[in-house]
Amino acid sequence: MITRKEDMYDLIILGTGPAGLAAAVYAARYKMNFLVIGALSGGTVTQAHMVENYPGIEGVTGIELGKRMADHAEKLGSGITADLIKKIEKKDGYFVLHGSKEYETKRILLAIGAERTKLKIKGEDEFLGKGVSYCATCDGPFFKNKTVCVVGGGNAAVTSALYMAELAEKVYLIYRGTELKAEPAWIESLESQKNIETIYNANITEIQGENKVEKVFLDNNREIEADGVFIEIGSTPNKALIAGLGLTTDDRGYITVDSELKTGAKGIWAAGDIAQNGFKLRQAITAAAEGAIAVYSIYLDTKK
Ligand SMILES: Cc1cc2nc3c(=O)[nH]c(=O)nc-3n(C[C@H](O)[C@H](O)[C@H](O)COP(=O)(O)OP(=O)(O)OC[C@H]3O[C@@H](n4cnc5c(N)ncnc54)[C@H](O)[C@@H]3O)c2cc1C
Repeated sequence: MITRKEDMYDLIILGTGPAGLAAAVYAARYKMNFLVIGALSGGTVTQAHMVENYPGIEGVTGIELGKRMADHAEKLGSGITADLIKKIEKKDGYFVLHGSKEYETKRILLAIGAERTKLKIKGEDEFLGKGVSYCATCDGPFFKNKTVCVVGGGNAAVTSALYMAELAEKVYLIYRGTELKAEPAWIESLESQKNIETIYNANITEIQGENKVEKVFLDNNREIEADGVFIEIGSTPNKALIAGLGLTTDDRGYITVDSELKTGAKGIWAAGDIAQNGFKLRQAITAAAEGAIAVYSIYLDTKK
């Protein structure tokens, strides 16, 4: 089959989180020939119990915010396809994305976020779905009146601990550092919660149980009887998907971009959590803003 470049998309936006959906809103209003592909509609923000820091949209669940973004993009006529892309192939002047079918495009906006980082300890994989979880909002209700551990010290960990404190009888927040990194407003709420105990300078070394989580071991020789372990220690880029595209990344694998969100590879832009351009805040609002900037740059590129 001969691929005719004029028949393919001008742009495929890969990712349906805040970056991809904001990009879709802008691309629709620029009347571009584009497609949006994503595995999880709304992206990672759907895992937030409550979003309190998105201007104009106060106190909504992450699921609701993600849904509103997807509805907005669709209302403007964005074609959104649910698919998991397993491979991106670079051809001469265009790209082929391999999912449940093949998609051809002249340009790609990578808005693929990052995957949840694992602790890489004994019992973590074994008890996944049997007490081990990476999403308090999704799995929290299974731990009503139980004891849980939340691991981490940033916003995601602290907000997950706060959410779990509403459901569980006791919450242990286990953090390897000496000072939590979350927003001071969240830390204030945490400190006022009677059923949260924060354990500093500690790492979980092992998760044990019969058929489900029953106990965790810490490297300070402490053992905690717990029914659940929520791991909130950040994210890691999907290096395999972007390998071979000629992108430059930082030492953690985040894609380096310039002020227009252009990557080091011709025809590829990156926005949101996956992108790295100096000082970085990984939040829904910054991801959405980068999606908009990237599409403006791509739109100008289509006019060349
Ligand atoms: C528990 C938690 C709570 C949070 N709370 C807040 C908060 O209160 N406020 C806030 O502003 N931010 C919050 N965040 C951060 C926020 O979720 C992220 O910064 C934001 O979602 C990043 O948007 P993104 O579009 O870059 O990536 P993501 O939202 O991660 O979206 C990535 C998208 O790419 C898709 N994708 C990835 N790989 C593929 C593939 N191979 N094929 C197809 N699709 C693919 C995914 O399915 C998804 O649709 C929270 C994060 C977590 C984990």
